Amino acid sequence: MAGAGRACALVTGGAGFIGSHLVERLVARGDEVIIIDDLSTGRRENLANVRSIDSVRMLEGRVSRRLTDLKHVRIDRIFHLAAAVGVRLVIERPIDTIETNVLETSAILRFAARRRTPILIASTSEVYGKSLRTPFREDDDVVYGPTIYQRWSYACSKAIDEYLALAYAREQGLPVVIARFFNTVGPRQVGEYGMVLPRFVAAALDNRPLEVHGDGAQTRCFCDVRDVVRLLTDLPECRALHGRVVNLGHDEPISIHALARLVVETLGSRSELRSVPYGEAFGQGFDDLRDRRPDLTRLRTATGFVPEYPLVQTIRDVASHLIMQREDSIL
Ligand code: NAD
Repeated sequence: MAGAGRACALVTGGAGFIGSHLVERLVARGDEVIIIDDLSTGRRENLANVRSIDSVRMLEGRVSRRLTDLKHVRIDRIFHLAAAVGVRLVIERPIDTIETNVLETSAILRFAARRRTPILIASTSEVYGKSLRTPFREDDDVVYGPTIYQRWSYACSKAIDEYLALAYAREQGLPVVIARFFNTVGPRQVGEYGMVLPRFVAAALDNRPLEVHGDGAQTRCFCDVRDVVRLLTDLPECRALHGRVVNLGHDEPISIHALARLVVETLGSRSELRSVPYGEAFGQGFDDLRDRRPDLTRLRTATGFVPEYPLVQTIRDVASHLIMQREDSIL
């Protein structure tokens, strides 16, 4: 690693979907980057573009274990993205979800607080739970289902992260920004943990039916990962957001049914749409929310953020990436 002069960023979860795009963006602007990732849902291939660059260092393993290697390393900003992510994963591996999201965040906050290093904590729109109020504002009440439904454990574990981060800001003056990500999409996102767009694109490319959960009238707002990471790079130092929660994403809603149709049209696919009841997709007692749209006033006031990638472009790029991956696996 090069020394003085360059800023050094630590990215946990840097081999994941959002993390790998962020690493590329930081490298492009000349930062040194240290990645901690246990490759549980992340992939080495995601870092193919930066692997041979000597300003990038990868530490494989859990965040809490690898932080000790960094005791004497100067770090200027931290992005904590490592987490157990995805509806399917959360339902199938609840212990890991809760422990990863709470214990690893606790470890990184303690590490950052000791050095007073600016840090961004990745939270999620799931934290709002099934609140009926829309759009979601950062100070709104949150509403969860009963604890017997595993689905809410992800939201609650991320809510604990938020409480802890806010407590570090208040008690110890830690410069921390808590970003509630709404649906982020783009190349490298994988469908196997329940993410909707890569699932739809993969099915459309094969002319298989696109499985729409529930009646498909539920709405979400999708933001391209390249817009998200353009914004993320300087967010830990954004003083206006220190000690605060901020929504992050796009605020243009689309129903899941309309998304499925858009994918089919954009890719010229012959796929049909197939409705799958939530119970069949995720087991009995699955609780979903109808509309999820952020109020972006706080984000826009602090950063002037305007997303640039249209959804159709994202769909095309996700498809191209998937086709490239399939060709690579055949070779
Ligand atoms: P991802 O699964 O691709 O990335 C998470 C990364 O963290 C993976 O590379 C995984 O291997 C790593 N990881 C998991 N547990 C770890 C541990 N204990 N130690 C070290 N590494 C670990 O998911 P993503 O979509 O890139 O999500 C990144 C962050 O953004 C997460 O915190 C997630 O909660 C948040 N988020 C994402 C979205 C979205 O739409 N993608 C929405 C809301 C919130």
